[in-house]
Amino acid sequence: MKLSALWRRENSRYLVVAVLPFVAVVLAVVLDDVSFGQQFDKYAYDFLFRLEQPDTWQPSSIILAIDDRTLLDYGGQTGIRDALADGLERIAPVKPAAVAVDVILADPGSPQSDSNLERAFSQTHNLILASYVLRNDKWNEPIARFRKYAVYVGQVHAEFDRYDAVSRDLPLAKVAGIDRRWALAFDTFLAAKGLHVDEESPEDIVAGPVRIPTMDGEEHTIRIRYPPFLKTGSFPQVSIAELDREPGLAKRFAGKAVFVGETVQARDSWTTPYSNGNSTPGIEINASLYETLAHQSFLVDAPVLGVLALCFALSLGASLIYALGSGWICNGLAAGVVGTSQAIPVVAFAHSVVWPWLPGTFAAVFSVAIASTARHLIVRRDLAKAELQRTRYQQAMQFVTHEMRTPLTAIQGSSELIGRYSSMPEAKRKQMADLINSESKRLARMIETFLSVERLSAGQMEMKQERFGLAELVERCSERARPYADRKEIEIDIVKLPADDLSGDRELMEYAVYNLLTNAVKYSPPRTRVKVFGEDNKGDCVRLCVEDQGIGMDKKEVSRIFEKFYRTKRAEQSGEAGTGIGLSIVEQIVTQHGGSIHVESEPGKGSRFTLILKRAS
Ligand code: ADP
Repeated sequence: MKLSALWRRENSRYLVVAVLPFVAVVLAVVLDDVSFGQQFDKYAYDFLFRLEQPDTWQPSSIILAIDDRTLLDYGGQTGIRDALADGLERIAPVKPAAVAVDVILADPGSPQSDSNLERAFSQTHNLILASYVLRNDKWNEPIARFRKYAVYVGQVHAEFDRYDAVSRDLPLAKVAGIDRRWALAFDTFLAAKGLHVDEESPEDIVAGPVRIPTMDGEEHTIRIRYPPFLKTGSFPQVSIAELDREPGLAKRFAGKAVFVGETVQARDSWTTPYSNGNSTPGIEINASLYETLAHQSFLVDAPVLGVLALCFALSLGASLIYALGSGWICNGLAAGVVGTSQAIPVVAFAHSVVWPWLPGTFAAVFSVAIASTARHLIVRRDLAKAELQRTRYQQAMQFVTHEMRTPLTAIQGSSELIGRYSSMPEAKRKQMADLINSESKRLARMIETFLSVERLSAGQMEMKQERFGLAELVERCSERARPYADRKEIEIDIVKLPADDLSGDRELMEYAVYNLLTNAVKYSPPRTRVKVFGEDNKGDCVRLCVEDQGIGMDKKEVSRIFEKFYRTKRAEQSGEAGTGIGLSIVEQIVTQHGGSIHVESEPGKGSRFTLILKRAS
């Protein structure tokens, strides 16, 4: 069946239910795949990050900061190695768990500073040094003189979002040349906890008792769970300058993972979901990654199938609500669907699952919009249809009452005359009695037809099952129609009829064929020809055609003539009376007999109605 035809049917609303969820899911997937859509998901992620906080925890790391004051004290950038040496020497006695130095030491400095630094490194337990990938795919790494003191050399690859420069995740591994290195914070974590990477797969890394869920396969990207204490304050830190002034502060480093690096504003600065546009030093990002690992506060992606299933369910919900319900309850429930699409990412985030915001929101809003619009249009269309049917029904009733009035007037008049004139001649009296009799029979037939028609369309009429000859039935119908045809000098020409028997309700089938014949006569100009012919179809079917040279119909009209009470403009203008229900009954009779009806027609040229009927077995 064509879509348009399905749409026209009563239950077109179910088309929305069947199609909309699939369309919504496909559009949601496409939208979520383009960077525009992804950006919305990221904003929602940042928002949820600020909204949904885990319970705060005691930091297990601390920053040894090279801040403005330190640089000032040590004579600027050239004094960094001296500052570093002093800082490390001051905290070494309290035994930090590990010390990560986020300063690239790729070139020799002044001999004095380098030997100071070397001395400090030699006293540092679990020292991790930093490297990064250069443009030529080589590592920029610490010179051998320092390197030999490091348990690991980690990488400090900077990764922030291409579009909004927010740092949300970091790759734990980076490859350059043949060398793959772990992130500085991950190496620090391994060193501080005395762990090693035991297993790794594209979805995770296992180090001792810790399983770290990761993304992007080889790169093992993980989301940084910026610690909740960052929302209100900054990361715990002591600057080297402060330590110089107050050496007692060193005890804050005892047992902690120490991240040493610059905190100078506008250098190596990033933004985070918490920082709200303000910059955060890179060393804080590294320390946050460490906290994520140490506290095992991992944020994992929602399963793709789950997200798709939710989109489908939300859209199906919205479509069903508008297909089955009505009024404000519908709108209330639809608001519930949209609300659910908003609640799920929040609830999921509270359980450390990142549920993308856009697909569900889009599926819900889009489906509610489309389903409610479709519902509105369907209601309007049904209303217009009902209105039209009512008008036509009224017209039909007017016609019926008008038709009934003629025999009734004859009966009334005749009976009055008989009653009034007792001395009426016998012949006249008999003529009137005959008239009363024939007119009342006609009236009874009319009532019977209309009742049958009504019952049949209400599906209440029982069909008889009998066997009858098609040729004989057609002959009978044409005999009945002939007086009518004669009045217009129309010839009913029965060309050839199959000798088959049909089975079913003979009376109803006669009604159908008679209707086609009288229509052919009715909608043809005088002195034309109505041709009736049939043939055996292959298989178990018989074909019967009624062809006229009448007013005809265009395609659009043909598609509607089986609707109850529908009449074409041309038929109305022809001056022929009609109700527009005959053909709808014909179609029902034919289909209930397991057959079908087809129409070919051309305006001004004529029409051919073809019945394909089942032969009696
Ligand atoms: P009625 O003839 O009482 O109007 P029907 O249901 O029998 O109702 O027919 C519906 C409409 O189909 C008619 O009003 C007419 O417009 C069109 N129609 C039916 N038969 C023909 C025909 N043979 N030629 C042209 N139009 C026809």
